[in-house]
Amino acid sequence: MIRVKCVPRPAWLHRTVCRPEHANIFFPDATTPKDFDEAKQICAECPVAKECLDEALLWEGKAIPKFRFGVRGGLNPTERYKLAKARVSS
Ligand code: SF4
Repeated sequence: MIRVKCVPRPAWLHRTVCRPEHANIFFPDATTPKDFDEAKQICAECPVAKECLDEALLWEGKAIPKFRFGVRGGLNPTERYKLAKARVSS
């Protein structure tokens, strides 16, 4: 028998302003940074953007941009990559 231990969802997830129906906005078929603008505008109104960004950076680790997906905490994959690198080197 396989036992699965559930990880509790952080409380801040109940305060996000993004919704499942926004999936195409947050995970666009992006070819330019502008493709993320609509998602970033939604994140700008989000009361838990810091928590969201911190979680994304934690889970993404040292991943290069092509292995980071969508907008999290108001930043696109390349921006999160640069921020993660800057935090490591500071
Ligand atoms: S910061 Fe953006 S992606 Fe993160 S929870 Fe808020 S709206 Fe969603």
